[in-house]
Amino acid sequence: MDCCVNGCVVFRKEQVNATYCPVCEKPRYNEKKKPVKQFIYFGIGDAIKQRFRDPKWRELSKLIFPPSTDKLQDIKDGEAWQDIRKQHPEFAR
Ligand SMILES: [Zn+2]
Repeated sequence: MDCCVNGCVVFRKEQVNATYCPVCEKPRYNEKKKPVKQFIYFGIGDAIKQRFRDPKWRELSKLIFPPSTDKLQDIKDGEAWQDIRKQHPEFAR
C-alpha cells in the first residue's frame, strides 16, 4: 500500500487517487512514477497464523501458553483475569 513519505496517511479510500499527501503535501510518486513509500499490511489474524507456522515460535509460545493445554485459551480463563474479576467484578464479568 502506498503511504506518505512522512507517514501521515495511507493512500486508500478518499486518497486512493491522490498524488500529494493531504497533510504535509509531499508527493506520492517520485520522478520515475513509483510510490515514494510503501508498506505491507498484514491483518492480525494473518500475522498470528504466520507466526504459528514457525516451529521456533511455536516452541517459544509454550512459555506463554501452558504446555498442558497446548491450545490458545480465552484470556478470561487466565489467573490474572480471575484476580481482576475478584477485585473489579463490575468490569471483569
Ligand atoms: Zn504527509
